[in-house]
Amino acid sequence: MVQDQIVARGISDRRVIDAMLKIPRHIFVQEAFAAQAYNDKALPIGEKQTISQPYIVALMTEKLALTGTERVLEIGTGSGYQTAILATLADRVYSAERIRPLALRARKCLDSLKLFNVQLRINDGEGSPIGWEEEAPFDAIIVTAGAPEVPAILTDQLARGGRLVIPVGADACQQLITIVKNEAGELQHEPSAECRFVPLMGRQGWQT
Ligand code: SAH
Repeated sequence: MVQDQIVARGISDRRVIDAMLKIPRHIFVQEAFAAQAYNDKALPIGEKQTISQPYIVALMTEKLALTGTERVLEIGTGSGYQTAILATLADRVYSAERIRPLALRARKCLDSLKLFNVQLRINDGEGSPIGWEEEAPFDAIIVTAGAPEVPAILTDQLARGGRLVIPVGADACQQLITIVKNEAGELQHEPSAECRFVPLMGRQGWQT
């Protein structure tokens, strides 16, 4: 998986490659899909949600340019696979998920890998806004669900020098955008690959 799908497509950050080699993907998918866990595609994880394609996980992670010292916010824990990669590469990960059974299952998977530097919370983005105000600012933020636009509430929670990666666009197809906040607090947008994510729900996403 790592050689054919990730390195061959141009991912070159050695730390990202090592993390993808280290974290088993099959424990994050439903048993019925375990045989397909290392295939080049997203897979269902229940609750009408999906675990992202391995290449997209690697690409988004590389865009965050993590060195090991960062505090990272993730919106959309899902299976917890992307969370596990982040936890391997950063100091601390805060991850929010709106669907309780997914968050509970992700917790079990992360514990089984002894990744104890992850804090999970259930937040539907409806009653309370997305993000994690009490723990902000974050050195890196990753959104793993497609948003209609970049939520200002998240760029506000990004530290100076920090990076935010988010898929933005309509239902069927989004574009991956990396936002860099410079030391002056200005935001720079860098568009990259096209991708397809399940929708970000709630007040800063698509309405339920
Ligand atoms: N990175 C995950 C992707 C899961 S799919 C993985 O690879 O497994 C995206 C997840 O975002 C879904 O589980 C969905 O329930 C969640 N989600 C959607 N809108 C959300 C919101 N406003 N707040 C938190 N989680 C959200």
